[in-house]
Amino acid sequence: MAVITGLDVVDVRFPTSRDLDGSDAMHTDPDYSAAYVTMCTDDGGAEGAGNGYGLVFTIGRGNDVEVAAIRALETHVVGRPVPDSPELLADLYRRLVGDSQLRWLGPEKGVMHMAIGAVVNAAWDLASRRAGLPLWQYIASLTPAQLVEQIDFRYLTDALTPDEALEILRRAEPGRSERAERLLERGYPAYTTSAGWLGYDDAKVERLAREAVADGFTLIKLKVGADCADDERRLRIVRDAVGPDIELAIDANQRWDVGDAIDWVRRLAPYGVRWIEEPTSPDDVLGMATIARAVAPIEVATGEHVQNRVIFKQLLQAEAISVLQLDACRVGGVNENLAILVLAAKFGVPVCPHAGGVGLCELVQHLAMADYVAISGKQDRRVIEFVDHLHEHFVDPVSVIGGHYVAPTTPGFGARMHADSIARFRFPDGPEWVS
Ligand SMILES: [Mg+2]
Repeated sequence: MAVITGLDVVDVRFPTSRDLDGSDAMHTDPDYSAAYVTMCTDDGGAEGAGNGYGLVFTIGRGNDVEVAAIRALETHVVGRPVPDSPELLADLYRRLVGDSQLRWLGPEKGVMHMAIGAVVNAAWDLASRRAGLPLWQYIASLTPAQLVEQIDFRYLTDALTPDEALEILRRAEPGRSERAERLLERGYPAYTTSAGWLGYDDAKVERLAREAVADGFTLIKLKVGADCADDERRLRIVRDAVGPDIELAIDANQRWDVGDAIDWVRRLAPYGVRWIEEPTSPDDVLGMATIARAVAPIEVATGEHVQNRVIFKQLLQAEAISVLQLDACRVGGVNENLAILVLAAKFGVPVCPHAGGVGLCELVQHLAMADYVAISGKQDRRVIEFVDHLHEHFVDPVSVIGGHYVAPTTPGFGARMHADSIARFRFPDGPEWVS
């Protein structure tokens, strides 16, 4: 029997703050980083093709804390059977989340939970590689009962029971192969955030917005929340540049209190805004619901900092969000994201995943595509975020053409990075950081 031999963890950081790429109202100088993990096995094969790869995305300082958190999980995996089946994946997830001492650091939130997510995602990467399938197709190859088995229903059953989940998944079963075909033909709609970073000047924002439309994007997102007059001016510039038919979204990255959010969004409403993203604290379910009622029909979107399935459940129950932005690297990996996708399907809320950062586009596209094929079965009002940064460091980079993610066909989850990128950007001793 093949076993896991260890977790190899590396602190990789990219100096993105030099050009203010990724800057927003709260995170003014991010260095996009990855606590990068390889789940090593005793039969990993040529050049590690049978190992598993995952990561936690951070924005610089603290990436070393994530590295340590991942290492703290090693005792749960070393010597365990290689998780290459649905049963073993479910077992590994429960083992990691259920550590009776480590859970004190959460429970199921923050640094430790993100570390668990990276290890769980590495296991799914490994399983789908060994099945010879991209992750989205691997998920879609599981039966509804096998998918339900992946989900921890603790704290969910007042909103979603295992029987209801099974029913939702069975309902999506008949059209699976047609939807997979359609995905391979047409891809999955994307939207872009690359035009609207807060640190960019007006001319750059206008140029990038025009380029985005020329590239086929139909939704553009702008960062807001530092200065309302600046936001009005930038929105006017972009609206004039792209015309009335392009959707615009705005993202405050948690900048406001509830009252401020309502006032600010109302001032920006005349420029035609589909959603306001992260108007306030991601933990403030009731505040988010108050904002949603006040700014409708503008939608409230959130999720990239929502710590687990329980908060998502509350956001849905409270009708606080109309757009659910799950993140591949925030919660407890594929297993918890399956719970979140089924919850969203139950409440009829579209999932528009958060991406960007390092590797988030590579990863999250698989979850959105699995949702379309095997869970919600829907693609309307759904778009995956796209940020055109750092893809060159990945072995299987995303391909976005004509405003659509091309469905990946190579096996795995997409987190594997090039060895030379890891060596060059390794912190603090890689050549990019030693000068
Ligand atoms: Mg955001």
